Amino acid sequence: MPSIPARSWRVCSPHDPGAGRRDRSGGAHVARGTHAVSYSQLDRPAQYLKGVGPKRVDPLGRLGIITARDLLYHTPRRYDDASTIQPVRSLQVGGEATVMGRVRSKGVIPTRKGLRIFQAVVQDESGMVNLAWPGQPWLDRKIREGDVLLATGPVRFFHGLQLQPREFTVLDREGMKGGERGHVFVTYPASEDVPQWVIRHVVEANLDALLEHADHDEYLDDEVRGALGLPLLSEAFRRLHRPEGIGDAEVGRRRLAFDELFFLQLLHAQVRYHAIQEDPGIEHRRTNELIRPLHEALPFQLTDAQARVLREISGDMTSSRRMNRLVQGDVGSGKTLVALFAMLVAVEGGYQAALMAPTEILAEQHHEKIAALLEPLGVPVTLVTGRMSAAAKRAALEAVADGSARVVVGTHALIQEGVEFPRLGLVVVDEQHRFGVRQRMALAEHRGQRPDILIMSATPIPRSLAMTLYGDLDLSLLDELPPGRTPVRTSLRSPHQRDAVYAFVEEEVGRGHQAYVVFPLVEESEKLDLRSATDEFARLGKEVFPHRRVGLLHGKLPSDEKDRVMRSFRDGELDVLVATTVIEVGIDVPRASVMVIEHAERFGLSQLHQLRGRVGRGAAESHCVLVSDTGAESAERLKLFRETADGFEVARADLRLRGQGDLFGANQHGRDAGLRFADLLTDEELLVEAQRRARELVLEDPELEHPGNRRIRDHLHQRYRDRMELFGVG
Ligand code: ADP
Ligand code: MG
Repeated sequence: MPSIPARSWRVCSPHDPGAGRRDRSGGAHVARGTHAVSYSQLDRPAQYLKGVGPKRVDPLGRLGIITARDLLYHTPRRYDDASTIQPVRSLQVGGEATVMGRVRSKGVIPTRKGLRIFQAVVQDESGMVNLAWPGQPWLDRKIREGDVLLATGPVRFFHGLQLQPREFTVLDREGMKGGERGHVFVTYPASEDVPQWVIRHVVEANLDALLEHADHDEYLDDEVRGALGLPLLSEAFRRLHRPEGIGDAEVGRRRLAFDELFFLQLLHAQVRYHAIQEDPGIEHRRTNELIRPLHEALPFQLTDAQARVLREISGDMTSSRRMNRLVQGDVGSGKTLVALFAMLVAVEGGYQAALMAPTEILAEQHHEKIAALLEPLGVPVTLVTGRMSAAAKRAALEAVADGSARVVVGTHALIQEGVEFPRLGLVVVDEQHRFGVRQRMALAEHRGQRPDILIMSATPIPRSLAMTLYGDLDLSLLDELPPGRTPVRTSLRSPHQRDAVYAFVEEEVGRGHQAYVVFPLVEESEKLDLRSATDEFARLGKEVFPHRRVGLLHGKLPSDEKDRVMRSFRDGELDVLVATTVIEVGIDVPRASVMVIEHAERFGLSQLHQLRGRVGRGAAESHCVLVSDTGAESAERLKLFRETADGFEVARADLRLRGQGDLFGANQHGRDAGLRFADLLTDEELLVEAQRRARELVLEDPELEHPGNRRIRDHLHQRYRDRMELFGVG
């Protein structure tokens, strides 16, 4: 399979929605054959391809084309046809346009200001137009008379109409056989060493032969392909490389997207199988003798979402299968309560439950809330942190070790530092959005016990992204807030209004509330003209709020200092906290009612949402003020954020606006996923099918040993060999 880095996919004309249904191949291939994938023509090194001499081997390798198969997977990054290409006669000043035509003359023109401009006159069937590249005289060596150019850029008036290409490619060079078919023009990822027209030539010279071998890789049987409306591999590649219409490319893309999603889900399914299925977990015994009294003691009803998620958790815990579940819920959706009920399921059957928070201060916060609810029921809640006195800590550890501590709250050190739990039945991990598969696997074993695992995340992400990143986990969504919450009021202000913003902060502080002021950077940066936390801390303390208590919190402080500042803010010893995004992780300060975010355009929407969630945790009406001086594009984004209170919706907007590459980038595990063809916004349905089929297959045949599944196993190994070793599967 291709070892090409993730690349974005783009079709320049609207997708053809019905395209996926039109499988014209109708062949009777039997995919689940009885033979393993043998060495195929597609495994031959690229140097045996027609038109690839020894000199091209390394440059092609750098593009990811090492074998013949890689050439098939080296699909166009762009498609143009009559709907995107304009006849030059119809160009108009002002807009953007894409044109295609042959270079009739060219040259470098100096201007009076010393700028040198490369110009080429390009002709299509409708006429001629001047293309101009100011400041790029070297293009004179790259572009030749007779070349066929495809170029996109703004159209200006400069001694006549002129198109200034932002992007261009030499589609064809005179003397080479062109790769144009029908009326769709494809543009491949290319490089300095392997220009566009060379790639096109190599594809054209080899495609027919390679397509004949493409179905050798086929692993889907006709029935499955039919059900999903997917073409054969050969058909997919044909449509991608030689589309007859732009909709063709989408049909091909969908097929490769399914493959990508299916094999990734297969890898996840195997990890999941090893985590929860292979050795049985604890079959918890639920008696309701603690759960019922807790229900009765609560002054409110559970939300429907809480009740549903609790059923999912309880089902996992009371089955012999081990639980490995992720609960996602917005700030305030009531995750702590869900965790608490889960812990009671463990305690009722005689087990211990541990809850781990990312920081000591959060552990203390949880301990306080949980103890208030459980101690009246006679369930002891034990806190273990590094700040406790030696004697208190010793006593706590003894209670854990002799089993009398039933619910234990601490940081991740709880497990890592070898605290001895004789009967550990459940581990709850809080706020661990950034937990990778390997870290989760480290939790998996505690002295030969296999506790159930529940992970709570306050960072909602779209379901398709969650399934891709955490496909080895089962997902529960707390997608409903308890009734009666006053939503945080979000407003947008320009830097000119900063004085008014501070006056508002002053007013709120005067009423006994507290405020956060967040900056994107710790220190001033020479490159970026941004206000930074340290500088503004000095200024705000001295000039703006001289009679208020102002604190500073950022990631470069030593951790005990961070802890000290956070505590004094929580305890009301500070009025204003100047900070960077380190405050993102779930601290609960009910008196904080204002969140001011400077340079708001620098933050992702999900990050803004996290920050906004730090206020509105008490009774007072709360405010989030975004200060931003920006162009229309980010203003749009921020306005959308202002109107959206639901974290899942914010996350979907983030995915739409920033693209999946960006979101993957922030997550090491996701980066490995490197989806090239699948689009998490449009392919959710395919993804759900891919996960369902992958999980089913692994349940039937965990190691993919049946002869009929060998081909699938070979594919999986080709794609994910490294990761399979790392995760100990396969
Ligand atoms: P999260 O951990 O998801 O941010 P919490 O569990 O801290 O949310 O809950 C936030 C607040 O809402 C707490 O004060 C909690 O007591 C309250 N709460 C939880 N569930 C409900 C409910 N079903 N109805 C009303 N209030 C609730
Ligand atoms: Mg279980």
